[in-house]
Amino acid sequence: MIKERLNKVLSELPKGTTLIAVSKYHPKEAIQEAYDAGQRHFGESHVQELNTKKDTLPKDIKWHFIGHLQTNKVKYIIPYIFLIHSVDSIRLLNEINKQAIRFNQVINCLLEVHIAKENTKYGFSPNEVDHLFQAKAFDSFQNIRIVGLMCMATHTDSEDEIRKEFRLAHKLFIHLRETYFMHDDTFNTLSMGMSNDYLIAIEEGSTMVRVGTKIFGERSY
Ligand SMILES: *Cc1c(COP(=O)(O)O)cnc(C)c1O
Repeated sequence: MIKERLNKVLSELPKGTTLIAVSKYHPKEAIQEAYDAGQRHFGESHVQELNTKKDTLPKDIKWHFIGHLQTNKVKYIIPYIFLIHSVDSIRLLNEINKQAIRFNQVINCLLEVHIAKENTKYGFSPNEVDHLFQAKAFDSFQNIRIVGLMCMATHTDSEDEIRKEFRLAHKLFIHLRETYFMHDDTFNTLSMGMSNDYLIAIEEGSTMVRVGTKIFGERSY
């Protein structure tokens, strides 16, 4: 069942798009099933849940942290995390850098950009992100590599609204890449699209989609 759903989603993604199977609240058996079908990138949004799961699962899984990350929990994931999608403050970056130095790692991070209408979601505003790059605010974090942006669209039935938001995120992504990364290709990831909007996200230039429900079924909270 998971295998069929996974393959269905994969068949809809253009070459070069990375699928993150979002496994939060699902048991490790479900992750193992997706792993056995070939999936290697998994996304989790709670530090403790992730820590417990990863110890019992194959070591070559690439774990993505996609939820709101509290600074006091950073140290638990630094030794093994593949990509942190949800960097939403300089304070958090500061802590990630500090722990990265401690564990002698370079941590790949995405800046979470707030594009949705809901004001409950975390993230920098598009202007803020631009200003931070302009001010070279990230240059001092030597053990952090900012490799792109992450965003979430408004939870709505309006395809137009979702498309508009993703288009804005893509425009910002291209602007930043062309302005601040002219001489290297490290800024190459635009993480956007979930179960109900990943097809729109792809059309609007997403390079990485985070799909949970469509693969694992409904979550029980
Ligand atoms: C839970 C979650 C997802 C996956 O959501 P689905 O609707 O189940 O695909 C993607 N991104 C983030 C940040 C999430 O928290």
